Amino acid sequence: MILRAISVAALLPLFAACAPRGDAPAVAPAPAPAPRAAAAPAGDVIDLLIVNGTVVPIAGPNLEDGVVAIDDGRILAVGPTAELAGRYAAADTIDASGMAVLPGLVNAHTHVPMTLFRGIADDLALMDWLENYIFPAEATFVDAEFVRWGTRLAAAEMIRSGTTTFADMYYFEADIGREARSAGLRAVVGQTLIDFPVPDASTWEQAIARARAFVAEFEDDPLITPALAPHSPYTVSAEHLVQVRRLADELGVPILIHVAETQDELRQVAERSGGLGPVAYLDSLGFLGDAVVAAHVVWPTDAEIATLAARDVGVVHNPESNMMLASGVAPVPAMRAAGVDVGLGTDGPAGSNNDLDMIGEMGSAARLQKVTRGDPRALGARDVLEMATIGGARALDMDDRIGSLEPGKRADVIVVDLSAAHTQPVYDVESAIVYAARGGDVITTIVDGRLLMRDRRLLTLDEGAILAKAREYRDRIMAGLTQD
Ligand SMILES: [Zn+2]
Repeated sequence: MILRAISVAALLPLFAACAPRGDAPAVAPAPAPAPRAAAAPAGDVIDLLIVNGTVVPIAGPNLEDGVVAIDDGRILAVGPTAELAGRYAAADTIDASGMAVLPGLVNAHTHVPMTLFRGIADDLALMDWLENYIFPAEATFVDAEFVRWGTRLAAAEMIRSGTTTFADMYYFEADIGREARSAGLRAVVGQTLIDFPVPDASTWEQAIARARAFVAEFEDDPLITPALAPHSPYTVSAEHLVQVRRLADELGVPILIHVAETQDELRQVAERSGGLGPVAYLDSLGFLGDAVVAAHVVWPTDAEIATLAARDVGVVHNPESNMMLASGVAPVPAMRAAGVDVGLGTDGPAGSNNDLDMIGEMGSAARLQKVTRGDPRALGARDVLEMATIGGARALDMDDRIGSLEPGKRADVIVVDLSAAHTQPVYDVESAIVYAARGGDVITTIVDGRLLMRDRRLLTLDEGAILAKAREYRDRIMAGLTQD
């Protein structure tokens, strides 16, 4: 609460500078941008121009020297400077010389409050990690306040590394939605439903009631999409999975779920289903459909890949988590070839990654397929860049709004500085971003036309307070763990 009061008051003047809608640009106290068309009538002044950058629109060919014009939260135009320069006067201009301009990255599967558990228990197998460390630690320490601070910490990390949309599954998900909105991020927030008592619900009925209220709260929110998140086919009964499917249909919301992550899961699902794989099992329940976003999908059979494509299920690949937990290697090239929408995610940042850096994740995704398939062409820089942008948007059914730089889409845009020693010289911008750049090379992050970070300065979060709180949580959790 204190953080919000301080940060909003401190940041108001900054937002006045970058939200000139309806005002004459001269009112803005910001570094006054040189008007590109001084004679243009006031009505033609747009909010923001990003000029001189290498534009990677994903939707079309890259532009060596391009412009992205933004107004009223949406992308107005994308094109070569030679064509667009002089067409618009803007209240604010970003010079992206020596930088790449991309659609914001989509982290399509994560558990953001787990930032506060980062590094608490690593180097363990999934079931051991979940049952002996994460579930007990969550039962002891996770409450709404924990979730709010964990989300703020994650928001700082995501904005700093170019994520503009994330899809989340956790507890107290309404608090995650509110914090994401306050930070200015776009999010699909999935309220967890699971067959045992968890921090925000002691019974299934209570969890369902909470989920209904949660969905109602975010109805028609421009940035936050509520979702239902049954944890997995091995932690939620068939009866409850069917109930979730019906509820999602009734409420018109997506479903986020972990599917076919490990061999252990395959064994558990086969036992309860008479030998089916997790995808076939979910399909036998009538659970699958285009509103379903399945995380991991490491172990689908060929027939199950065909089912995922036929049912239009979105899949999220989490290569660093799959490596960290030794879960296996998802058949990403086969799923893409079958026409499955495959996005990219980090998974949670505790014991299964351990960061939320989507630029690093792209490099890991490409390298993992190369070494596994024994073929450096198995998954390339362009492929993973698509997965981290339009692929994630398609998996989440948001590609009409985000995932590429196209006129009419929402203005979720990042600027990546490629001038550092570790990224120079640049022969191929996609190679530079995927194989050489780091999350920290993202210099500016924009969501819905709003600047969340400019020149590496966070504009919507009090990072000092967040980091201090993270250390405080760490001390408290360590003390609690050593007592046991
Ligand atoms: Zn997960």
